[in-house]
Amino acid sequence: MRSFVYQRITDAASGVHALTAAAASDSTPPTLAAVQPLAGGTTLIDLMKLDVMRPSTVVDINPLAEEWSAIELQNEGLRLGALARMSDVAANSGIKKSYPVIADSLQLAASPQLRNMATLGGNVLQRTRCSYFRDVSYDNCNKRNPGSGCAALEGFNRSHAVLGTSQQCVATYPGDFAQALMALDATVEIATGSGIRSIPFARLHRFPEQTPQIETTLAAGELISGFTIPGRWPRSIYLKARDRQSYEFALASAAVALDIRDGVVRDARVALGGVATVPWRAREAEAVLNGQAFDAELGRRAGEVAFENASGLKHNAFKIALGKRVVERALRLAAAMEV
Ligand code: FAD
Ligand code: SF4
Repeated sequence: MRSFVYQRITDAASGVHALTAAAASDSTPPTLAAVQPLAGGTTLIDLMKLDVMRPSTVVDINPLAEEWSAIELQNEGLRLGALARMSDVAANSGIKKSYPVIADSLQLAASPQLRNMATLGGNVLQRTRCSYFRDVSYDNCNKRNPGSGCAALEGFNRSHAVLGTSQQCVATYPGDFAQALMALDATVEIATGSGIRSIPFARLHRFPEQTPQIETTLAAGELISGFTIPGRWPRSIYLKARDRQSYEFALASAAVALDIRDGVVRDARVALGGVATVPWRAREAEAVLNGQAFDAELGRRAGEVAFENASGLKHNAFKIALGKRVVERALRLAAAMEV
């Protein structure tokens, strides 16, 4: 392992200011940057041990936990601090009742030990599990080594994406929680050197078209401070298909939220995981559902439409059929929920 400088932030304002200033002299994209914030460390330290990430300075942001860990259920919606631990949010009774899709997405991720350490902010910024990205003995990975090509295109690509791909990179976005945020139209709060800015969560992750090494729209030094979710979604669910029943990333997953009144779908939300390069909102599937009386056939059609533009590689085409069934089943389960 390479040596690095370890620093601890003391308070939000001066800490963010110091981080922004340190990062300003660094022209590399935030995900490869020389200055990396440290939250739970379950992604960052792993990737440093593998020599994939090589920060010269690691800035521990955990002293901000008191300010940035709140779980706030309000009349108009929910606010989650970026340093809230996955396990605390998953176990919160109000979230289980009013936002089961959030509780499920966190509870079905990783392992109990990891969820106790890992934070929400770190979770949405986790890096891909593409094995060519994580193994530095492969040179040709555009995400790790910009301009070097993509070993997965002709290599073993069973876990890779079928939506949102490019010739530059076909790596899957691996997280679960992000799909719940996508489906619920969340906003992400970002602490900058000059205060807080907010953007739709859907604008946080970037497609890998030109520059797969730049994964988000965060500027160097910026920190995620929290997430806000409008409304309440008691009829919502996260369904995850994977190679084994626990401690495994999704092959295909769906975050679904439905507002059904008098048997008719008034507002449908569908987001997909395990199948796309970024957290993926399936708006075409939502259009099929909205305004219709829900039945199994409607759910099947929504699943079909969600994958209309998918294209498989040599080893991952099975994800298209699997993904359709996951969407269909998640919709049926959500429609049958008693709320
Ligand atoms: P860190 O490792 O501390 O940080 C991750 C990245 O985000 C770093 O680049 C860091 O600089 C940056 N960062 C952290 N916080 C902030 C912030 N507030 N603002 C700006 N930048 C920040 N995840 C799933 O969703 N589903 C799974 O099934 C799953 N399985 C896993 C299995 C294993 C074996 C492991 C090791 C991980 C798994 N994960 C899974 C990933 C895990 O959930 C993430 O590692 C974790 O959520 C990251 O959070 P952290 O707080 O530890 O982030
Ligand atoms: Fe690298 Fe992306 Fe290709 Fe994987 S899919 S080898 S992360 S460029």
